[in-house]
Amino acid sequence: MFIIFVVLAVAIFRMLSPNDSFGNFNSSKNIAYSEFKNLVQNNQVSKVFIGQTTVKAQSNNGVFVARKVQDPGLVAILDEAKIPYASYSETNFLTDMLFTWVIPIFIFFGIWMLLVSRMQKKVGGGILGIGSSKKLVNSEKPNVKFSDVAGVEEAKEEVQEIVDYLKNPEKYLRLGAKIPKGILLVGPPGTGKTLLAKAVAGEASVPFFSIAASSFIEMFVGVGASRVRDLFENAKKEAPSIVFIDEIDAIGKSRSSSPMGGNDEREQTLNQLLSEMDGFDADRSPVIVMAATNRPEILDAALLRPGRFDRQVLVDRPDFKGRMDILKIHMKGVKISKNVDIEEIARLTTGLAGADLENVVNEAALLAGRGEKEFVEQEDLIEAVERSIAGLEKKSRRVNPKEKRIVAYHECGHALIAEVTKGAKKVTKVSIIPRGLAALGYTLNAPEENKFLMQYHELIAEVDVLLGGRAAEKVFIKEISTGASNDLERATDIIKAMISMYGMSDVAGLMVLEKQRNTFLTGQTIKDYSEKMAEKLDESVKTILDERFDVVVKTLEDYKGAIENMVKALYEEETIDGQRVRNIISEYEVENNLTSRLVINEEENEDLEQAKHKA
Ligand code: ADP
Ligand code: ZN
Repeated sequence: MFIIFVVLAVAIFRMLSPNDSFGNFNSSKNIAYSEFKNLVQNNQVSKVFIGQTTVKAQSNNGVFVARKVQDPGLVAILDEAKIPYASYSETNFLTDMLFTWVIPIFIFFGIWMLLVSRMQKKVGGGILGIGSSKKLVNSEKPNVKFSDVAGVEEAKEEVQEIVDYLKNPEKYLRLGAKIPKGILLVGPPGTGKTLLAKAVAGEASVPFFSIAASSFIEMFVGVGASRVRDLFENAKKEAPSIVFIDEIDAIGKSRSSSPMGGNDEREQTLNQLLSEMDGFDADRSPVIVMAATNRPEILDAALLRPGRFDRQVLVDRPDFKGRMDILKIHMKGVKISKNVDIEEIARLTTGLAGADLENVVNEAALLAGRGEKEFVEQEDLIEAVERSIAGLEKKSRRVNPKEKRIVAYHECGHALIAEVTKGAKKVTKVSIIPRGLAALGYTLNAPEENKFLMQYHELIAEVDVLLGGRAAEKVFIKEISTGASNDLERATDIIKAMISMYGMSDVAGLMVLEKQRNTFLTGQTIKDYSEKMAEKLDESVKTILDERFDVVVKTLEDYKGAIENMVKALYEEETIDGQRVRNIISEYEVENNLTSRLVINEEENEDLEQAKHKA
């Protein structure tokens, strides 16, 4: 295409090439300036034309052209010889036009056409690809079942309802029930989000439309939005159906979180998606949109509003049992030796996601094949684990055994203090599986009721629980680590707030040192106190932290055996629930004839009173 324009441009250039009164350039002869001068001086010239870089002489023998040299005397000579002369322009208006306007426009136009034609190839025809993405997303009917997804039992339960709805929509519609339109699957890469969405479609045997959000974004504004429109049009035609959007953060980033500022194309695409979701009537065309992300925190709030992705399902990394199940699933298609110990492999792979485990099995099969073996042996699996871990350790996704031990004690420290301290939130789950991207392990505490007020002893209890992690490292590992930095930050903040905002200390009494203002918008506080007070404040924060830490250390020492038992359970199962924690603790209390919890709590309260007076 581009070549056609170049040829055209050259042809036009030819047509427009300068013609002057001498006729075509072709019929003039090129001569040296000295020869030209000779012609003039010998009076063989009838007329002379002087240009910027050349001179032309008309003679009986035709037209001669010479390149100019510096010669200020030429005009004088011509005057003397009475030869008429005139100036002439070497280029004319048309050639100027050609070079400064026509050719650049042709080139520009050519490049543009080239890009458009490429785009069309990608999209599949039609000018600018608008309305032509119909071939882009095809539906499939996956034959994945829930039994192919393992280690994410809670997530499976949560989407179970969707399957039922897709199978018998009337059952729900009759009752006027509103089924969620959008479900956001949240979890690290490779944990089976895509697989789970497929399994929902497979179980309900409905068409599955799958697209990566990044592929919506094209060079031309408006294409993404039209693709979304087409996608939903097709999905509605085949309803009930499932639309799966992978990496939704590519279009769903909140405006404030993209440092480059707004992106028109992304925003238009997002808006189209939102209006499609708002627009379709779930009653008549049940299309369920499932989206996956591993960064829910950067999503635009508009996406999470009711009627959109108002349901979030956590698809987390599998624990020990989950890994066993996933390994078994992927070993089905592989010739595995009877001597293989799946349990050992599951133990070696803490922190790995489903996709990593699938990869381990495959790698082991490759190794066995290379060794000309009949079956995959344990050693192949172990080597495959080591290989994939070497790759993953760089991404810090696997927990090494030494860290696992520290994390286990740290989390059990939190959990124990939470259970034996009055006013602390109860433990729902303790885990040493890395969650999300930051934390190595976690202890989930659930408040027992909705609370708007915190009493003094509850705040102190929260501080104690936060200090429990670090204290356990000190008591059991005998060395402290960086793992507690977030805990310490939060504990410090609570004590500071108690003194400076809630009037809960003797240092400042009822005087409020910090006012919260616009915390919704900025989270800032206004500080209003003297240097001297600042010093006192810092000092008493430190004193209280130290005191609480001592109390917590003492409690942990009393419960040493309970912690050891908890760590053992946690080490083996990687997640234990709150009930299990409570059982371990009460068994230990009975065995060791420990003062019952209530008494400890009352002692605690006395401690608290003292702390309060000192503060
Ligand atoms: P995600 O969408 O979360 O990044 P995928 O669903 O694409 O992860 O996982 C890739 C592959 O890894 C799957 O096709 C499956 O073979 C395997 N896999 C991942 N998670 C699981 C799981 N929980 N159970 C079984 N296989 C899994
Ligand atoms: Zn901690």
